[in-house]
Amino acid sequence: MTSMPLMRIPYTTPLPSPTIIPSSASTLQGAVAALGDFITAPARSGVGNGKTVILSGAGISVASGLADYRGTNGTYTLNKTYRPIYFHEFSASHEARKRYWARSYLGWTNLHRSSPNKSHVAVANLGKTGLLSSVITQNVDSFHSKAHPTLRTLELHGYLRSTVCLSCRTEYNRDEFQKDLSNLNPSWATFLDEMLKSGALTTENPEARRSRGLKTNPDGDVDVPDVEYTTFRYPACPVCLKNPPKGTKVELDDDGAWSSTSTAGVLKPAVIMFGESIPGHVKLAVESAIDEASRMLILGSSLATYSAWRLVKRAKEQGKPIAIVNIGGVRGEEQFVADISSDSSGAQGLRCSLPLEDVLPALVGNLSPDTSKWSTMRNDSFQPAPWR
Ligand SMILES: [Zn+2]
Repeated sequence: MTSMPLMRIPYTTPLPSPTIIPSSASTLQGAVAALGDFITAPARSGVGNGKTVILSGAGISVASGLADYRGTNGTYTLNKTYRPIYFHEFSASHEARKRYWARSYLGWTNLHRSSPNKSHVAVANLGKTGLLSSVITQNVDSFHSKAHPTLRTLELHGYLRSTVCLSCRTEYNRDEFQKDLSNLNPSWATFLDEMLKSGALTTENPEARRSRGLKTNPDGDVDVPDVEYTTFRYPACPVCLKNPPKGTKVELDDDGAWSSTSTAGVLKPAVIMFGESIPGHVKLAVESAIDEASRMLILGSSLATYSAWRLVKRAKEQGKPIAIVNIGGVRGEEQFVADISSDSSGAQGLRCSLPLEDVLPALVGNLSPDTSKWSTMRNDSFQPAPWR
C-alpha cells in the first residue's frame, strides 16, 4: 500500500449524515469539552510524541470567503457548474491552459486579499500551548503557514502562491506571474480592473458576488459567464525559454506569450491537480507527521480525496484516537469513530458537526488559563512510583 503512487482524485458520492460521538458533543459547550479532553489526554504508552497532528480541509477556509465547493453532502452542490481541471487536460491542452489561467487571473486578487480566519488563528494558539506537532492541510491557500509560520505546515495538495515549470520544475512567484498575465492580456486587465472597482471580486459575501455574475472556487479561480477564454495568453518558463531542455523547443508568439509550437516550458500552478500524483517527498513527510503524533484531529474535511482519507486510515491502524470536526458527512467515518462509546469523555476520539470558527476559539479559551497547570499535571502523571 505505501509504495502506491498517491493521486489526487475527486469523490462525489453523497455522504450520510454523521452520528455525533460522544452525544454530549452535539452542543457547542459539550463539543468543546470533549475536544479539550481529546487534545490533552495522556498518550498511550509508546504511541507517538504525546501531541496531535491536524488534518484540515476546505471547511476551515470557508470563513475566509472561499467557497467550500463540496457542500455538506460531499458533492459539488454549492456551485454545480464547477468542475476542477485535471492534470492530464492541463498538461496536454493549450486551450485548457488558457481557460485555467484566465479564471485564475480573475480569481487571484480575491484570493490574495483574503486572509486566515479565526480558526487558523485558533490553530496557531493551540500550537503555542505545545499540544500540536504539525498541521497537514489539503488547502492550497497558504492560510496555515501565514497564521502559524513556526508551527510546521505540510501542504498535501501544494500551494497557489507559486507556479512551477512542467519541464524544469523551477518555481516562480504567483504575484509576478500575475503581472506577466496583465501585460500579455491588456483587455482582460481592463475587465479585471472594472470588476475590482465594482466590488464583485472583493466582497466576502457569496450572494453579492453571485449577483454580479461571479463565482469564486476554492482553488482560487473565478467563473465568468459568456467569455471567450481562447483569447487569453500566458507566459513561457523564462529558464526553459533561455535554455530549452534537450530535444525540446520553447517559442513565443507575436505577443510574447507561450506559443503552441513549443514542446516545453509550460507553467502550472504549484498545486497538485486532480489526477496528478503527490510528490514522493510530500507523501513521506505527511506519513511521518502521522507516525510521530499520538492522535489526529480532522478539521473541516469530508476526506473526499483518497490521499487525505488514507492518512486518517493510517493513524487509525496505528491505534491512535481520531477526532473529526466537520459540518456534514465524512467519507467512511464510521470506521474511524464507531468504536467510541456515546457517553465517553472525548479522550478516545470524537465526532462533531459544528462550525470550526465557533468550536476552535472556544477550545483555545478553555485551555489557555490552564496551560501551565496542564503541562505540570501531564508531567506528574508520568512520574514513576517511588517504590519502583
Ligand atoms: Zn522551465
